[in-house]
Amino acid sequence: MESGGECVEHDNPDCAGRWRRDGGAWRCSGCGAAYPLTPGVARATIRENACGLLLARLTAEGRAAIEGE
Ligand SMILES: [Zn+2]
Repeated sequence: MESGGECVEHDNPDCAGRWRRDGGAWRCSGCGAAYPLTPGVARATIRENACGLLLARLTAEGRAAIEGE
């Protein structure tokens, strides 16, 4: 396991919000979970945002496939 791998978690596990810099913290646009502005958290938010985008795209494609039947 690589050291320094901080992670950020949503208050709501199903939250699909994006992490944004909000004043002195990283804050989720969905559930409002907040983390301090540290390099580790910044990396984690970038990773989480990428995952969130992928998930949103997959969800949209899945819904389109289901409704397209
Ligand atoms: Zn959230």
